[in-house]
Amino acid sequence: MKLVIATQNQGKLKEIQTLLDLPELEIISLADFDFVPDLQEPHQSYIENAREKAKTIAEFSQAWALADDSGLEVLALDQQPGVYSARYAGENATALENNLKLLKNLEGVPFANRQAEFICCMVLRSPRGEEYSTEGKLTGLIANEMRGEKGFGYDPLFFIPEKKQVLAEMSSEEKNQISHRRQALEKMKHFLIKKIHNG
Ligand code: IMP
Repeated sequence: MKLVIATQNQGKLKEIQTLLDLPELEIISLADFDFVPDLQEPHQSYIENAREKAKTIAEFSQAWALADDSGLEVLALDQQPGVYSARYAGENATALENNLKLLKNLEGVPFANRQAEFICCMVLRSPRGEEYSTEGKLTGLIANEMRGEKGFGYDPLFFIPEKKQVLAEMSSEEKNQISHRRQALEKMKHFLIKKIHNG
């Protein structure tokens, strides 16, 4: 079964490719196409954005498509940046700019009150419109300063109390064991296995 991963984010693509270890799957990325339609995220919910991306790529490629929409929700900031996580500091903001904005907006908030959650919503869709969706969450705290060099996005600030490390300090294997994307994908694997075996 061919499956196109509908993301332009190299960090996410790598995580999904590593985690989707089903031998019957032929995983294709957007880089395998000469041209791809723009992936829009016009909605205010993860599920609607993921649906939009999966639909665009399934119809364009005429293959099954898997899209994820994810974001960081910080309790002390009324769940911001949420669906706007990728563009928190502006339309083409870098991860560093987003992290610096987050630190600034949390200035003066004590560590114990910096609870946050990563949310990942995944949608699997066929060219004919058959659709499955799953969700995964990871809870942690926003650190007072950036640490580590691994991962992507807000990983340098996302502290996991049980590991006493931020995600950017963990190996990809360690992050992949606990991540919100892992949890959403594990649930999605059930649908994928059914599709591979029952059509
Ligand atoms: P989108 O799903 O393409 O809208 O982007 C989600 C954004 O949320 C990313 O660009 C990151 O800023 C952030 N994000 C989502 N998942 C992670 C993660 O695993 N680590 C760090 N940042 C993440």
